[in-house]
Amino acid sequence: MLEATLNLKLLEMCSKCGACFSICPSCMHIPGYDPRAVINDILDGNYEKWLTSRHIWQCLECHHCLEICYQHYGFENAMAALRTIAAKRGIHPTQLKRGWEMFVKTSRLGEPALPARKKLGLPEPKASGADEFKKLLSLLKEKREKKKK
Ligand code: SF4
Ligand code: SF4
Repeated sequence: MLEATLNLKLLEMCSKCGACFSICPSCMHIPGYDPRAVINDILDGNYEKWLTSRHIWQCLECHHCLEICYQHYGFENAMAALRTIAAKRGIHPTQLKRGWEMFVKTSRLGEPALPARKKLGLPEPKASGADEFKKLLSLLKEKREKKKK
């Protein structure tokens, strides 16, 4: 499954390089967060244990590793691929589920704080586009159902 989404040849170079470890904010500040270990396990075909690890959700997707990478690949690809598999299996932090449910309902990940906006002199927030998003989602679902038949 992972082989289809990741370029293992590039990851092999990664396992020998490790340069972006020193500029990754999560590596610097979260004890135990080490994409190098994840990548080594992916290469050994031993990645299942990471699907239940909180570390795969601690990548900030800041793209620092992509920017520094001479292959323009990056740690984040490995972390994102594992998150995708975990989410498809329903293994994810509860906050993620709550965030997704809120996004589907309101097209926002949080409600704008109106008093704070007013205090800062910011304009009223624009409509969220929730109705359009719901239409898009139902179109997508219809398309998927048709594909299954
Ligand atoms: S994208 Fe993720 S793995 Fe890459 S530098 Fe940022 S936090 Fe680290
Ligand atoms: S992502 Fe690029 S810079 Fe970072 S360890 Fe892998 S090959 Fe090296």
